[in-house]
Amino acid sequence: MTTLVRGGHRAQHRVVLLGGGYVTLHAYAGLMRHVGGAVRAGDIQVVVISADDAHSFHGFTGEVLAGLLPYDRTRTPLVDAMPHAHVVLGRATAIDAERRVVRYVLADDESGPDHTSTAERVLDFDSLVVGTGGREPATAVPGLGEHGFTLRAPGDIAVLTERVREAAAHRGLRRHTVVVAGGGMAGVEMAAAVADLGGARLRVELVHSRDAILPELRDEQPRLARRAEQELRRLGVRVRLGVRLASVTENHAYLSDGTSLPASTVIATIGQRPVNVPGLDTHRDPRGRLVTRPDLSVVDGVWAAGDAACVVHPTTGAPVPANALWAIKGGEHVGRNLARTLRGRSTRPFAYRGLGQAASFGVGRSISELYGIPFTGWVAWVLRLTFFLRFMPSRRKAAQVVTDFARHAAHGRTARTSAEPAVADLAAARTA
Ligand SMILES: Cc1cc2nc3c(=O)[nH]c(=O)nc-3n(C[C@H](O)[C@H](O)[C@H](O)COP(=O)(O)OP(=O)(O)OC[C@H]3O[C@@H](n4cnc5c(N)ncnc54)[C@H](O)[C@@H]3O)c2cc1C
Repeated sequence: MTTLVRGGHRAQHRVVLLGGGYVTLHAYAGLMRHVGGAVRAGDIQVVVISADDAHSFHGFTGEVLAGLLPYDRTRTPLVDAMPHAHVVLGRATAIDAERRVVRYVLADDESGPDHTSTAERVLDFDSLVVGTGGREPATAVPGLGEHGFTLRAPGDIAVLTERVREAAAHRGLRRHTVVVAGGGMAGVEMAAAVADLGGARLRVELVHSRDAILPELRDEQPRLARRAEQELRRLGVRVRLGVRLASVTENHAYLSDGTSLPASTVIATIGQRPVNVPGLDTHRDPRGRLVTRPDLSVVDGVWAAGDAACVVHPTTGAPVPANALWAIKGGEHVGRNLARTLRGRSTRPFAYRGLGQAASFGVGRSISELYGIPFTGWVAWVLRLTFFLRFMPSRRKAAQVVTDFARHAAHGRTARTSAEPAVADLAAARTA
């Protein structure tokens, strides 16, 4: 069993945060707000076990792909975002809630060709926060893991961005085709971003299994869904409905209706699944998400929120959507309730009711819904940007984003900056 000692004495309470995403970042912020003195004094120890050493701000992925923001802007090192936590770069492999231990392997021990390791370590905890998020199921579509792109593994976005930029810069006779699978918010934004960057030099095909894109938005805000379709048409994105991505090879995307598309790049935003760390098996819903109690605990001492959890909306009773806003608000609530238990107080139920949603199709071209009110164009774009800047984990990076957009307005798209990691390194970091 690992014992981490800080400040010369064993902490009285150890909080382990699994994952370095929105949930754990905001749980950490909530803890620091309410019991920061005890954390700084070493009486409460916070340990983060994360498969990635930086927080990824996924909301700006479209802007990165479109060449409006450098990749680096979306990445905040966890040691900067959680300065009073002990950050362990590794992957949690099992949770034993009864014995209050979590098993994990260090990233350094997993560097073999098959990313497996027998060097499993054990860390005991007093409180555990599960924020391991979701992943696209790369193995569900043959060839996708080898030849396509999903968007969540460390480094994926940087490698993809370079690939799309190379395709857009290609001056040959044949136009490159980029296929985006999945017509939800992420897929629609990615298709728009690639088309915005490539213009007439790239052909973009959006493949969606249902009979219309953006099904969730369409139910609540049909006008905004129609506006999104108009934007895709303006950008020249071809939408194929009622078909699935069936398999991917080096140069083709094969679809469920038997047709195929010659594709230099395939991006999958389909069928997101929770990252399921084994354990707590009787506390999962059929999709594998941890089912939370009204205060966001799963069992005593274990808390969960975000894409890996099934959190129920306080008024509708339905599971809340898997997006950043709900992960942030869930994480904040976990941090607050955890602090309350540490001070011997009773916990409070999660009562957040939501704010809205947004998507972007280029500078000044967005759709947003705020408390049920729809906005489009510049107003929607500014609302979305303001919201994102407010929730970026680094004030410095938020200020740089504003500068980037101002520079874009004056001089056009950003080139890759020297601050970005070498794409070759990131390609090596792509994990299965
Ligand atoms: C391309 C893209 C665009 C998006 N755009 C938007 C948007 O515009 N607006 C919006 O609201 N939402 C958006 N989302 C969704 C949003 O990013 C997620 O809902 C949100 O990240 C969920 O937060 P989380 O903390 O649950 O998980 P994440 O933020 O994904 O964090 C999960 C963390 O857990 C780590 N991890 C995974 N497995 C393990 C393990 N076994 N052990 C240790 N660590 C592990 C990961 O490395 C990561 O650090 C987008 C998502 C994507 C992929």
